[in-house]
Amino acid sequence: MAQIKAWNPEREFLTRDELINLQEERFLKTVARAWESPFYRKKFSELGLSPSDIKGLSDLSRLPFTTKDDLRSAYPYGFLTVSRDRLVRLHVSSGTTGRATAVFYTRRDIDSWAELMARCFCMTGAGPGDVFQNMSGYGLFTGGLGFHYGAEKVGILTIPSGAGNSKRQIQLMKDFGTTVIHVIPSYALRLMDVCQEMGVNPREDLNLRIGYLGAEPYSEEVRQRVQNFYGIRVYNSYGLSEMNGPGVAFECLYQSGLHLWEDAYLMEVIDPDTLEPVPDGTIGELVLTTLDREGMPLIRYRTRDLTRIIPGQCPCGRPHRRIDRIQGRSDDMFIIKGVNIFPIQVEQVLMAIPEVGSNYRIVLTREDNLDQMTVQVEVTDRVFIEDMRHLHKLREKIAKELKSELLVTPRVELVEPNGLPGGEGKAVRLIDLRGKSGEGGV
Ligand code: ADP
Ligand code: ZN
Repeated sequence: MAQIKAWNPEREFLTRDELINLQEERFLKTVARAWESPFYRKKFSELGLSPSDIKGLSDLSRLPFTTKDDLRSAYPYGFLTVSRDRLVRLHVSSGTTGRATAVFYTRRDIDSWAELMARCFCMTGAGPGDVFQNMSGYGLFTGGLGFHYGAEKVGILTIPSGAGNSKRQIQLMKDFGTTVIHVIPSYALRLMDVCQEMGVNPREDLNLRIGYLGAEPYSEEVRQRVQNFYGIRVYNSYGLSEMNGPGVAFECLYQSGLHLWEDAYLMEVIDPDTLEPVPDGTIGELVLTTLDREGMPLIRYRTRDLTRIIPGQCPCGRPHRRIDRIQGRSDDMFIIKGVNIFPIQVEQVLMAIPEVGSNYRIVLTREDNLDQMTVQVEVTDRVFIEDMRHLHKLREKIAKELKSELLVTPRVELVEPNGLPGGEGKAVRLIDLRGKSGEGGV
């Protein structure tokens, strides 16, 4: 199979100094361009700033942050820097955390986005000859068309299968000998059950070798499960609509953090409370500035995603720095009995237990003025038909392992395979009923 190792070696392997020079140049252009948008012109003017005050990257911190609320307040067209007749596409974010926001693309923006995605495919060893099944929602969600354009650019046969329709997905993989898939992690887990129902063993019956998983947080344990079950290598894919969509940061063959394409995005990691930068290696909120966007540049956009910069050089030699897997959004964190917890910490424990099936959720309630955390866990088929005594032991084992990781003792409920709600979209891991009066059980 023909394999291209880098789509754009010149941009992917420049020296760190060359990369910073390029960033500097693009940053100044971005600031000048942003000034053309009604939103930034007003915002900069209010702060008494004009583009000529910004002389280089060292002035970055003089610029204001942009938040999701800013995007909502200027919805739909307030961030545009070109007239509408120069636009060719819009996407709308999935609205996981509230009202949606819109992003616009010129033809050039679509091309440069596809270029970033093309790099991601090649960096992970995919290329012409592969068959790529894109199990991501097409339409307003950026995951579908984002991956699609990148794959076509590289010259990969692409099956735009979209989300859902599980049996058909597996049938398509069989019929066309799919080698590469893009899928959200919760759906990759769900599909395992469907394979089992259909009597398909992916390692023997399918041709898969690579999986791109992203769009929602997932633990290393989920990566291991997915790799083992399908017999593939899984690469983490990170992006957000506000920054085009997928292709912002992606793992290379070394699977040791996600290279953020720093010629296209300027990154900062800040303390979300003080808004000051944190040292490399420390977890904080990722803040991104577009460096190569025409229609809708964004400056210091607060993603609310928590991660850290991984210090040091990746063995692949790319100077684009790596971020660690996203721990969650700052608003995913919940506090129970004084302890701060992210759903991904619960997942890590659960997915390392072989009897645990493919889905779980966390339900928070308040009973007699005390917070209660209930973890609902699907068990595997095999466990489900075992006798009650075993189930009781399993429940205790899960509770004990969660307690030792989280320092809070949860109530554990075992659920039959496929017993928990789960759709095609991003998984809802946390149900917080504490604010609601009269809520007792679940
Ligand atoms: P929404 O914000 O409505 O979900 P998007 O579809 O633009 O809209 O989703 C982008 C968000 O998805 C990111 O900000 C991040 O929270 C999450 N996300 C994307 N990729 C990953 C990933 N690989 N790991 C964890 N979270 C991710
Ligand atoms: Zn690398």
